[in-house]
Amino acid sequence: MKPILYIVVPCYNEEKVLPITNSIFATKINDLYIDGKISEKSRVLFVNDGSSDATWEIISNLSKENDTFEGISLSRNRGHQNALIAGLDEARKYADITVSIDCDGQDDINAIDQMVEEYLKGSDIVYGVRKDRKSDTRFKRTTAQGFYKFLNLMGAEVVYNHADYRLMSKRALDEFFKFEEVNIYIRGMVPLVGFKSSVVYYDRSPRIAGKSHYPLRKMLSLAFNGITSLSVKPIRIITTVGVLVSLISFLLIVWSVIIHFTGSGVAGWASIVSAVSFFGGIQLISLGVIGEYIGKIYIEVKKRPRYIIETKTYE
Ligand code: UDP
Ligand code: MG
Repeated sequence: MKPILYIVVPCYNEEKVLPITNSIFATKINDLYIDGKISEKSRVLFVNDGSSDATWEIISNLSKENDTFEGISLSRNRGHQNALIAGLDEARKYADITVSIDCDGQDDINAIDQMVEEYLKGSDIVYGVRKDRKSDTRFKRTTAQGFYKFLNLMGAEVVYNHADYRLMSKRALDEFFKFEEVNIYIRGMVPLVGFKSSVVYYDRSPRIAGKSHYPLRKMLSLAFNGITSLSVKPIRIITTVGVLVSLISFLLIVWSVIIHFTGSGVAGWASIVSAVSFFGGIQLISLGVIGEYIGKIYIEVKKRPRYIIETKTYE
C-alpha cells in the first residue's frame, strides 16, 4: 500500500501568493503519485488562518477545480504555529505522512522527494534544513543565527536552520498531539517526540510575492515564547545570579562594617546608590521572567482550544 501524503500549508492574507504557488504543490503531489511513491488519495491541505483578504475564496475555488486541493478555514487569525497545528491535526485523520510547508514558495518543494525517500527508509520525522541563508537580508540572517544559538543556550533543543518545513509520519503526529500545551513552539517540541529522524538540505529562495508576516517584533516574541515554553533555564539563571549577587552584597556589608570602624566616614554615597539601583534592576528583571512563567501557567490551566475550525471544503 502506497502512503497517503498530505502537504499542509498555512495561509494568512496570501491572495497575491496563492494563485502563483498553488500549482507547485499540486504538481508535486501528481509527480510523486506518477512515480509510484504515494497513494492517489494524497492531498494539499490549505489552512486559512483568518485572512482578511480573498485567501479563503481562492482556496475554496481551487478545491472545486481540482480534487487534490482541500482547505480548512479557522474562525479567526491565530498565528502561524496554531494554523499549522490545526492543519496537522486535521491531516493526521486521513494521511500516513504529512509535510508542512509555507505557502509563499520560499522553501524548495523538490526537497519533498527526498523527505518521502527518507520516510520510506524508516524515518518518522524528516527535518528540512536550509543549506545557507543567502536569500535573506543580512539583518534577518544575523538575527536568525543569533536566535538559534541563544535558544540552545537557554535550554531549548532546536535543529539549526530548520523552520517548519518537515515531514512527520502519522505515528509521530499522534504522539506529538499528546503534548497538549497551548504555548506552542512546534520546531522545539517535535524533537521531544523522538523516533528515528533525518535531515534533508534545501535552498530557500526569496518570497514570490506579498510580504513577510514576521517583522522583528514577531520574531522576538516567537523567540521568547520558544525559550519559555521549552525550558525553565532562565529561572535557573536568575537563581544563579541571585546567589552570586547575595555573595557580593555580603562582601559589601563586611566591607562597609570595616570602613565604619576604621572611621573613614561618609564617602560611601556613590557605592550605595549604585548597589541599590543594581539590585533594583536585577530584581525587576527576575520578577519579569518569573511573571512570564506564571502567565504561561495561567494560560495553560485554562486549556483553551488551540484552534477553532469554521468551515472545510470537504465532508
Ligand atoms: N502565516 C499564518 N498566520 C499568521 C502569519 C503567517 O498562517 O498569522 C503563514 C503565512 O501565510 C506563510 C507562513 O505562515 O505561509 C510563513 O509566514 P511568512 O512567509 O510571512 O514568514 P517568513 O517566511 O518571512 O518567516
Ligand atoms: Mg515566508
